[in-house]
Amino acid sequence: MIRQKLEAKDYSILHDIQTWEDWAEIEECYSKLSSNFCTTDEQSYQRQENRLNVNINGTTWKPITREYSCDQDIDIEVFFNNLRDKAYEKLENVSLEDRIKEFDGFNLSCFHCAIRTENLAIRLCPICNRRLTSFIVNWEKD
Ligand SMILES: [Zn+2]
Repeated sequence: MIRQKLEAKDYSILHDIQTWEDWAEIEECYSKLSSNFCTTDEQSYQRQENRLNVNINGTTWKPITREYSCDQDIDIEVFFNNLRDKAYEKLENVSLEDRIKEFDGFNLSCFHCAIRTENLAIRLCPICNRRLTSFIVNWEKD
């Protein structure tokens, strides 16, 4: 059931999340699912690692290295990331906006374009116009 909802990118899965244990179950399922994703090959990985920062409309964007090469797999990764934000919001009763203020090194990213920014005022990717996803270097609270 969890797997189907993850694959369908179905946000109704949020109703099944009442505790962090529920979340852990989803995370475990995602981890199994993502082990089948098409991962980026070594050459393309290195090419990505060598990319430089870019400036788009006055904002600095840093490269992120994509773990997956297939768009479908990236879509699920983005969904999972967004779902984690929503689960956090639901379980801890803290909005993403408030959490952004709380974390140091909070970035927003577009996994499809493989870029991230520290400019948290921006919500849409300047290249593909997709909604940006939170990118937390250190997920655990101190
Ligand atoms: Zn993009």
